[in-house]
Amino acid sequence: MRIARTRLEVGSARRTLPEPLGLVLTMGALHEGHDSLLRRAAAECESIAATIFVNPTQFGRGEDFGHYPRDEAADLSRLEALGVDLVFAPSTQEVYPAGFATTVDVGPLGERLEGAARPGHFRGVATVVTILFDLLGPGRAFFGQKDGQQTIVIRRLVRDLGLPVEVVVCPTIREPDGLAISSRNRFLSAEERAAAPVLSRALARVREAYERGEQNGDRLRELMRTTVAEEDLAALDYASVADARSLDELDSVGGAAAADGALVSLAVRLPSARLIDCLYLESG
Ligand code: AMP
Repeated sequence: MRIARTRLEVGSARRTLPEPLGLVLTMGALHEGHDSLLRRAAAECESIAATIFVNPTQFGRGEDFGHYPRDEAADLSRLEALGVDLVFAPSTQEVYPAGFATTVDVGPLGERLEGAARPGHFRGVATVVTILFDLLGPGRAFFGQKDGQQTIVIRRLVRDLGLPVEVVVCPTIREPDGLAISSRNRFLSAEERAAAPVLSRALARVREAYERGEQNGDRLRELMRTTVAEEDLAALDYASVADARSLDELDSVGGAAAADGALVSLAVRLPSARLIDCLYLESG
């Protein structure tokens, strides 16, 4: 496994790898969710690369950039065990040299939901993803469904700029009680950890209601709100049932307005961490 720290090193290591290259972008603090993306990449590609980069431009002021968990030694041995060929783990200065001024903005898609709660977040994501795609030249890039809006933003970016990469979205890996695995789960106290499955419980109720025939957007959003209200420690940031292409809130998940399916998503604040989860409903 080669470890590149600079743009120059990653470029020369990349040239030796067979096509197609499968790429998994991470912020480190690796867990079973990241493993699942890398296994899928290994199964579908001739070579695999991972990045470890806690991207400062996607964190807002007062967010947890300084406290984001970092354990590079553990991450590297995990990546080695998964058979990764190349790891790119650059410094902030390497990705954003002095005077860096260019950003990539995906427009309104990046201003809703997570983008409304975290202004500038998706500009940071789209910018770093563009830089990393350019440096690594993957044939396929693997992302988790857990960050549902991120997958929509990245598909838009790839389509709009005509980037020669296939975006593959992989299922969310969960703890046995339903909590989506996340690097931020380690911040939760025992009490908060016990409350955290409220997100997946809310989504499960939406799926059940949908399967019983409920299509009304307001009633599905209300179901998430009432579920989150059952947990004293949890405060709802948003509950959304949106068109999976435009992220417009849907009156109904059936019919032409939802031709691309619906992204059902919510964000919940617990005292020590803000958690997100989502599910995708196919149309029809
Ligand atoms: P992060 O390191 O949190 O930026 O995540 C890197 C990639 O792993 C993103 O594509 C995430 O969507 C994905 N990911 C994070 N958690 C999970 C999970 N529980 N299941 C599947 N993919 C995940």
